[in-house]
Amino acid sequence: MKLKKLEMTLQRLSGFTRPRPSLEQYQTPAPLAARLLYHALMNGDIEGKRVCDLGSGTGVLAIGAALLGAASVVGIEIDETAVGTARANADLPEADVEFIVANADDPTLPDNVGPCDTVIMNPPFGAQKAHADRPFIDLALRLAPVTYGIFNAGSTPFVESYTEGRGKITDRVGGSFPIKRTFAFHTRDVQEIEVEILRLKRTP
Ligand code: SAH
Repeated sequence: MKLKKLEMTLQRLSGFTRPRPSLEQYQTPAPLAARLLYHALMNGDIEGKRVCDLGSGTGVLAIGAALLGAASVVGIEIDETAVGTARANADLPEADVEFIVANADDPTLPDNVGPCDTVIMNPPFGAQKAHADRPFIDLALRLAPVTYGIFNAGSTPFVESYTEGRGKITDRVGGSFPIKRTFAFHTRDVQEIEVEILRLKRTP
């Protein structure tokens, strides 16, 4: 599927019905999701691979990976309502995705999900709950040799030191994330958040 078509398809998916601020529920905008997925595709990390989406929300990244030819895709998400939306969103031809309701913190997850080739994720940035992104990074490194994650711009030094001895950042792609006024504490109609997409390779 071409980049433009992927972007248009992802654009049409339903968003969070009642987004929960404590879980930092922001749907990845289609252009940013498509950029992450295409970058991963070009690196040979999607087609024919088992892909796991951590904190899959309404399924944008997971469904995109399936549309780009992943062999199998599993989305892991703590919020049952979001999983319901994701399952409805995945009702598209060629978007065969399994969604599991689970906490990224759950130590039994790696055994339940089994190994993946590639993790994709837009984890909470830790704006509401400090270090909320850490269980995601830990789980990603346990599940797969390669991870693509969306982080706040400027997170590279943190991710580098947090994963020291466990992984290395191999690629970094900048982007921005327009957040529409969603929660009461938002003061502007739209706020542009600068982000970076990092590719993390697990240390063998
Ligand atoms: N990946 C989706 C959603 C990003 S928002 C997308 O790209 O659109 C972050 C998601 O992580 C939310 O859906 C939130 O419910 C989920 N989440 C937050 N904490 C979690 C946890 N501990 N375990 C699993 N999912 C979690």
